[in-house]
Amino acid sequence: MPKVDDDSVRKAAASAADVAYSIPSISEQEKTQLKQRIREQLKAKNAVLIAHYYVDADIQELAEETGGYVSDSLDMANFGNQHSASTLVVAGVRFMGETAKILNPEKRIIMPDLDAECSLDMNCPIDEFSAFCDAHPDYTVVVYANTSAAVKARADWMVTSGIAVEVITHLVERGEKIIWAPDRHLGSYIQKLSGADILLWQGSCIVHDEFHAQELAKLKLQHPEAAVLVHPESPAAVVELADVVSSTTGLIKAAAKMDNPSFIVATDNGIFYKMKQAAPNKTFIEAPSVGVGATCQSCAHCPWMAMNNLRNLAEVLESGANEIHIDPAIQAKAIKPIEKLLDFAAQRRK
Ligand code: SF4
Repeated sequence: MPKVDDDSVRKAAASAADVAYSIPSISEQEKTQLKQRIREQLKAKNAVLIAHYYVDADIQELAEETGGYVSDSLDMANFGNQHSASTLVVAGVRFMGETAKILNPEKRIIMPDLDAECSLDMNCPIDEFSAFCDAHPDYTVVVYANTSAAVKARADWMVTSGIAVEVITHLVERGEKIIWAPDRHLGSYIQKLSGADILLWQGSCIVHDEFHAQELAKLKLQHPEAAVLVHPESPAAVVELADVVSSTTGLIKAAAKMDNPSFIVATDNGIFYKMKQAAPNKTFIEAPSVGVGATCQSCAHCPWMAMNNLRNLAEVLESGANEIHIDPAIQAKAIKPIEKLLDFAAQRRK
């Protein structure tokens, strides 16, 4: 199986954390001023703010208040596609801006910080991935949304965590063998549920990879009333302790629907903003991300998501900088596996 360069990803995550957490905190007075500047700029530039569940709660709140949107990556790109704004301001990480551009090539896509990466995307460089696919020509290539435009362009299908099991099961029924990239935990989870013949790329998310099963088991004993909600990018031992395993959107829905008064949540803690909104009288507890005495790298919050803040959001709107550009030849190929997924999802909804 292909090896990924974990050291360089760890170093990149540490430097992202340095950038994100060295920013002086924003006072309430400055926050009010920044939000007003952003509101004015959104109107003046015919722009809409689209935020991921994992970014700062102030940005999520502002997206909702100004008629924008908060969701997962594909839904963010879809929303941008249906919105009349000529500029989409994507608060999230780089592959989300790229996905928005692939689906909306005629629109201007800007992001607060173009250095906001994703360990899964970094774990899957196009040259190595393409060579791996070339070595297994009889396999259908399925990639996760958390990949570069170039990797999507090399794939047959792109999927999100919410629909991955359905797509792979469909491919298994057609007798197809699968290359799955980049997340090894999500890939193993899909393999277990679908019984697919899968070659797994060995990437991982630095946030979910740190959730710790033994510590989670102890926390469950302390909170017997709590249901455990787990994103499938987490290790298998953590997934086994879950009451619900689902995508970000699925976990928010579960928190609203289930009767439990509290929830232990194994995904990025940025999701608590929407969970508290969906279930205001319930309590949300972070799943433990390390063993006793260890030092966590991410502490349940993505350092690249944390690079988005009200200051760089206001600045990018005013300057128009940080625009996403994609080679048209790559865009034309990358849109195909995404459209395949959208058609599949539309068929399933009928
Ligand atoms: S939380 Fe993980 S999967 Fe999401 S952007 Fe950060 S590193 Fe990537």
